[in-house]
Amino acid sequence: MIWCPRCEQGWVIAARVKERDDTFMVCKECDTVWEDGDPVAKAPYVILEEYMARFGKSQLWTNLEQLEG
Ligand SMILES: [Zn+2]
Repeated sequence: MIWCPRCEQGWVIAARVKERDDTFMVCKECDTVWEDGDPVAKAPYVILEEYMARFGKSQLWTNLEQLEG
């Protein structure tokens, strides 16, 4: 797993929104989402709430499936 470069307080895991195929990286501590590539401290990234809103879902972790970690 990757230590979050943004908040430096949590692990970044691979996950996907349930019933969707797109995988992404997300920090379990600060809810930062990286859609492409490795986590970096600077943009591009989005916050989980924003990401989930695209699919009409709330940012609850129960709406996510963890792929590792
Ligand atoms: Zn973080």
